[in-house]
Amino acid sequence: MDEKDENLIKETTPENGQNDRNSSDDQYEKICYSCRRSESKAGPMINMPGGMCLCHDCMQKAFDTVLKNGFDFSKIQNMPFLNMNLSDISGLNIPQPEIPQKQRIKKKKPKEQPAFDIRDIPAPHRIKASLDQYVIGQEQAKKVISVAVYNHYKRVFAEQARQAETASDENASADSIPDDVIIEKSNILMIGPTGSGKTYLVKTLARLLDVPLAIADATSLTEAGYIGDDIESVISKLLAAADNDVERAEHGIVFIDEIDKIAKKKDMNSRDVSGESVQQELLKLLEGSLVEVPVGTNQKNALSPTATVNTDQILFICGGAFPDLERIVKERLNKTSSIGYRAELRDRYDDDPDILSHATNADLRAFGMIPEFLGRLPILVTLTKLTEPMLVKILKEPKNAILKQYIKLLALDEVKLVFEDDALTWIAAEAMKRETGARALRAIMEEFMLDIMYEVPKDPSIGTVVITRSYLEKNGGPRIEMRG
Ligand code: ADP
Repeated sequence: MDEKDENLIKETTPENGQNDRNSSDDQYEKICYSCRRSESKAGPMINMPGGMCLCHDCMQKAFDTVLKNGFDFSKIQNMPFLNMNLSDISGLNIPQPEIPQKQRIKKKKPKEQPAFDIRDIPAPHRIKASLDQYVIGQEQAKKVISVAVYNHYKRVFAEQARQAETASDENASADSIPDDVIIEKSNILMIGPTGSGKTYLVKTLARLLDVPLAIADATSLTEAGYIGDDIESVISKLLAAADNDVERAEHGIVFIDEIDKIAKKKDMNSRDVSGESVQQELLKLLEGSLVEVPVGTNQKNALSPTATVNTDQILFICGGAFPDLERIVKERLNKTSSIGYRAELRDRYDDDPDILSHATNADLRAFGMIPEFLGRLPILVTLTKLTEPMLVKILKEPKNAILKQYIKLLALDEVKLVFEDDALTWIAAEAMKRETGARALRAIMEEFMLDIMYEVPKDPSIGTVVITRSYLEKNGGPRIEMRG
C-alpha cells in the first residue's frame, strides 16, 4: 500500500475524528449519496467510508446490479471518488453496514399477566352488546362474529396454556385441554354489499378488543415477483399497527377487503397473476406460517432488519361484495326447486333481500374462489343490504353518529342543531338512490351542512338551527331561532 492509499484509509477510520464529524452532524438529516433522498423519506441510512451515506434501496440496487452482471471484484482498483481502496481487500470483503441506530423495535413492556387470559376476553354476548353501540342492524353477522372472535382468542389462550404446561414439564391435569384435540383457526369470510358495514364492523371489533388491525386491499396484492404488494406486506402492515411489537401483532386481526376481486378468472389462457395465484399464496398465511417481514419499513431488502411473525394466531377476516353471487345462489335455489311449484319459489327468491345468507361453499366456488382458500375461511358471515329505516338509525343512533358529530360541532358555538324526522328520512332515501349503502350518508350531509357551518358562525344571535325537509329539497332555508 503506498502512502497515498494509507492516507485515504486513515481519513475514513473512526479513530481519526470521523466520529466527531458524525456527532457534530447529528442535527442534520443524512442524505443518500445516490438518490439524494433524506433519511426521513428513505429510511435509515447506511454509513459508508468517507462520511457518505446510502439508503437501503440504493444499496440493494447496487448489490443487485453487481450480482446480476457477474461483476468481478478482483478487477476493482482504487475508487478515489468514494474514498475507498478495494485493492488491498482480500476476497470479497464488503464493509458490514451499521445497523440503523434508531431502530423502532419497541422494548416489550413487562406484563403481569399473559396477553390473552380467558378472563379478559369478553363473552360473546358482551362483545355483541358493545358492537351494538356502533353497528346498526346486521344482527346475525354481529352474533356470528362475536362467537368466532371469542372462540379464536379462546384457542389462542388454550395454545398458550398448552405451551406453558409443556415448558414447565408438568403432566396435564385431568381437566386441562387434551393435547390431541386441535382447535382449528376460525378465520372469517364476510360477504355483504358495499357500504353495509364490513370494514366498520372489523374496525370496531379491533378497537373494542384493543388488538392491532391491518386493512389490506386484495386488488393491490400480487404474487411475489410481480408489480404490486406481495402477500407478506399484509403482515408488515400488522406489525406496524402493533408498533413493531411482534407478540402483539401475532394476536392481531388482518382484514383483506375486496376479496371477490381475486376470484379465478374464467376463460383465461394466460397466467392468472392477480386472481387464483394470489388466493394460492394467501393459503399459507391463513392457515398459519412463519413469515419474515422487514421491521420499520414495508420494503424488503437485504439490509433492513427483519422479524419473524407467526400467523397461526392472527385472525384473518376476508370481505367482499361478491356482486354476481346473488345470481348464482338464486339459480341454484331455483334449480333445486324446479320440480313442481317452481314459478312460485322463483318469485320468492327474486324478492328475498337476504338471498346471500343462503350462499354455500359451492356457490362461492362457482363464483371463482378456490376450494383450498374457502377451506381456510370456515366461518361465513353475510351482511344484508341496509334499508331506509336502518340508514335513519345510522344517522342518529351509533355512539359516534354523524348527526351527533354535527350537533357537537355547533354546540361549541353555542348553537343548537335540530333535525326534523322527515328531514332524516329524506337523507336516507337520497342515500338509497346512490346505492353505496351508508357511505352516501356522510356525503349527503356534507353537501348541505357546509352552508350551515359557514353561515351560522357569522351571526352570534342565532340560537337554534332546525334542518327541515323543505330545506333539503331546496324549497326554502333552514328554520332559524334567535337567542333569548
Ligand atoms: P363496506 O361494507 O363497504 O366495508 P364500510 O364498513 O366501509 O362499508 O361502511 C362505510 C361507513 O358507513 C362506515 O364508516 C360507517 O360509518 C357507516 N356504516 C356502514 N354500515 C353501518 C352500520 N351497519 N352501522 C353503522 N354505521 C355503518
